[in-house]
Amino acid sequence: MTRSNIALPYDQADPPEQPPAQAKPRLWRRAYQAFDQHRQRGDTTCACGHPWPCRQAELAAHYLEVACHADDAAGQDRGELT
Ligand SMILES: [Zn+2]
Repeated sequence: MTRSNIALPYDQADPPEQPPAQAKPRLWRRAYQAFDQHRQRGDTTCACGHPWPCRQAELAAHYLEVACHADDAAGQDRGELT
């Protein structure tokens, strides 16, 4: 899994509910909602009951990052948040 070298304007372990200044607000809020519903619970379990990290948690983290980048293409082909 490749990691972006771009410094993110938030703490990935604890992103703020309010979007950072350069984030797209709608995408951020949608991603944050998913992030909030899929927090790690214990060492190996997600709040949704699936093994950590679940698919939705990974997508939420991805979309929080995408929301802060100008390049929309980064969000393609990674599935949809539900
Ligand atoms: Zn989950």
